Amino acid sequence: MSQVLRACKVCNFVTEESKCPRCNGETSREWQGYVVVIDHTKSEIARKVGITANGKYALRVR
Ligand SMILES: [Zn+2]
Repeated sequence: MSQVLRACKVCNFVTEESKCPRCNGETSREWQGYVVVIDHTKSEIARKVGITANGKYALRVR
C-alpha cells in the first residue's frame, strides 16, 4: 500500500487529495518532512509555523 501523499502549497496541510481539504489550495508532491500536530494550542512548532488546527503538516513545500 503506497499512497502518494501531497502537501498544500498554501497551508502545508498533508493530504492525498489534489486540492487541500482545509483551504482548497493547490497541493504538491514535492515536499519534505512533516510535523504531526495533535494539540496546536500546546505545540511550540505550531505556534512558530502559524498552524491553527490539528493535523499533519509539511515542513517544506515546493
Ligand atoms: Zn491548504
